[in-house]
Amino acid sequence: MRLSKAFQPTLKEVPAEAQIASHRLMLRAGLIRQTASGIYAWLPAGLRVLRNIEQIVREEQDAIGAQEVLMPTLQSADLWRRSGRYDAYGTEMLRIQDRHGRDLLYGPTNEEMITDIFGSSVKSYKELPKALYHIQWKFRDEVRPRFGVMRGREFLMKDAYSFDATYEGAVASYRRMMLSYLRIFQRLGVRAVPMLADTGPIGGDLSHEFLVLAPTGESGVFFDSALEEQDWLARPVDCDDENSLAEFFSAVTDHYAATDEKHDEAAWAQVPDERKREGRGIEVGHIFYFGTKYTASMGVEVSGPDGVPFNPHMGSYGVGVSRLAGAIIEASHDDAGIIWPDAVAPYRAAILNLRPGDEACDEICEKIYATEPDNLLYDDRSDRAGVKFNDADLMGHPWQIIVGPRGAKEGRVELKRRASGERFELTVEEALAKIG
Ligand code: ATP
Ligand code: MG
Ligand code: MG
Ligand code: MG
Repeated sequence: MRLSKAFQPTLKEVPAEAQIASHRLMLRAGLIRQTASGIYAWLPAGLRVLRNIEQIVREEQDAIGAQEVLMPTLQSADLWRRSGRYDAYGTEMLRIQDRHGRDLLYGPTNEEMITDIFGSSVKSYKELPKALYHIQWKFRDEVRPRFGVMRGREFLMKDAYSFDATYEGAVASYRRMMLSYLRIFQRLGVRAVPMLADTGPIGGDLSHEFLVLAPTGESGVFFDSALEEQDWLARPVDCDDENSLAEFFSAVTDHYAATDEKHDEAAWAQVPDERKREGRGIEVGHIFYFGTKYTASMGVEVSGPDGVPFNPHMGSYGVGVSRLAGAIIEASHDDAGIIWPDAVAPYRAAILNLRPGDEACDEICEKIYATEPDNLLYDDRSDRAGVKFNDADLMGHPWQIIVGPRGAKEGRVELKRRASGERFELTVEEALAKIG
């Protein structure tokens, strides 16, 4: 993309309503614009980030055998009357009426809808297990929408639902999801620690929240640093083998990790002092086993091996896709701007032409740009060098390829790594090889 042609409206003034770094930076860098309280439009660079996050989530959900569907944002109130949640959900639910006076709602989550879809098509235990997910906008009328996309009212969530014949099967589904989530967050370039969460009336210990560590997080967190040191992408886990899944699950749950809601001083005292980590975190994912809560209340049954019908066990699994864009920035920025992890950055690198109109500069820039015009941002504007440096730092491109008249004459460029500030004097070929 040529910056001279791009819609990339950076802001000079920090908007007064933005209290935290990620919100300020997303507005300043032109990633989002607020259109109503807690509701945002995603501008081109922001949308690229959102799509990158989505794609990683999708690949890792597919990898554990979950299948993608797409359910609508609008749901019929009758569906929620069947589970009893229409009244129970309260004021976070946006309720709508159509022209015939029929009650609808803008979905805050999809347990009822997926249970209904599942129930109308799956008839036998032989068709289980099944895991379905979608990536769709949700609406929750939050009392205090704040921190930009981190607590929006309309937000993008990946929500998955599993259906199993037995409790043991549901546990295996839960563990596969935990693995998928750990891999998602690692690929996204953020640390998200899985922590024991409340199970409410369901009971048991199959509820975990994934928290990105950041001082502005809304939850207090306590965890064993052993959880930070694992490489989940390198760990071989056979998702079809319950023993392999159990071994993996112990590697996670053997280490203490809890939010302030579930914190247990006695268990915490067992963690060696040098491994104790305390701080704040942002909830970016949540996995939850809830048994037959919806299949029973909505009357969804399949026939068992003995012909006797039963209610399948379910779990639900959410990732805050749009919240992650903010959470990643919260965990990865400096005074100059955003520092995107490579995997989510809107562009792999920015090319900064320090002297547009200079023959050597233009030639080198065009040559580099032509290698991958979809994934490189070419700053070909006639602005001063200082403006380009500042904008590139603000936008957080992982690499900056800086092309000035002196080096260009000799076919050389300067490559800057945004995260470390390291600079390299390289030929064009070397620079392209280094950014990968
Ligand atoms: P929170 O505790 O932050 O209100 P939640 O526990 O109500 O979140 P879940 O129902 O667990 O949220 O939804 C799954 C995921 O959706 C959350 O882990 C979070 O990442 C994301 N999410 C929830 N509410 C919002 C929101 N208002 N804006 C953006 N993302 C959200
Ligand atoms: Mg909430
Ligand atoms: Mg929560
Ligand atoms: Mg939650």
